[in-house]
Amino acid sequence: DGKVTFEDVHFAYDSNRPILKGVSFEVPAGKTVAIVGPSGAGKSTISRLLFRFYDIQEGAIRIDGQDIRDVTQESLRAAIGMVPQDTVLFNDTIAYNIRYGRPSASEEEVAQAADLAQIGDFIARLPDGYKTMVGERGLKLSGGEKQRVAIARTILKAPPILMLDEATSALDTSTEQEIQASLDLVSRGRTTLVIAHRLSTVISADEIIVLQDGRIAERGRHSDLLAAR
Ligand code: ADP
Ligand code: ADP
Repeated sequence: DGKVTFEDVHFAYDSNRPILKGVSFEVPAGKTVAIVGPSGAGKSTISRLLFRFYDIQEGAIRIDGQDIRDVTQESLRAAIGMVPQDTVLFNDTIAYNIRYGRPSASEEEVAQAADLAQIGDFIARLPDGYKTMVGERGLKLSGGEKQRVAIARTILKAPPILMLDEATSALDTSTEQEIQASLDLVSRGRTTLVIAHRLSTVISADEIIVLQDGRIAERGRHSDLLAAR
């Protein structure tokens, strides 16, 4: 399960400037839907609304049919995993940072998640810029490695719903391809909503929704959208 439904969602941060003007879509359980569109179209707003950082003015957002206004913020946070664009790390070991995804996890589970995210070699190290009392030097993490920490955290958390926010946009092409492969691994079988800038990063999505000025301008599979151009 983990089906996500947006039903005729209207939303404005401030009442005289609507941001979403009747947006409807569904992410069937286990499928991947990508939201693309120009900057300012309202893509990130959709992710904030799913976490209920703001309440909508009209329409409904549902998880498995249940209106999220009837769900506590805590259960939303438990149900939805997020791999953000830029991961902020705690001043502690990489292992600690991964375990944050599920504090009850065993050492072995943390190590497995790190291996899957291809950062198994340095989980005992600290992020760059941090020092322990005994003076251990920090490890310089690239943007891609930081993202791998977020991926390992999410693998460990294993949420039914996954939200990827332009998760590879800050990386160079070869790193982006590697990370994309790890993200595909994490999203397999999971209800996934991807916020993306480019069509090329969401080729395998089950549906792509093109958001423009707060409305759905086009929708379809990658090949359909290319054919329409
Ligand atoms: P996108 O992710 O597609 O670039 P956003 O959802 O971030 O777009 O933003 C959509 C619109 O909402 C933009 O015009 C943006 O300036 C506005 N906006 C975003 N966050 C806020 C906020 N907290 N308060 C008021 N306006 C906001
Ligand atoms: P956890 O659920 O592991 O305790 P956090 O406390 O960091 O993780 O956040 C709870 C959930 O909300 C996570 O899935 C996280 O990625 C997401 N989240 C936190 N901050 C933001 C944000 N600014 N925008 C969207 N999602 C966020």
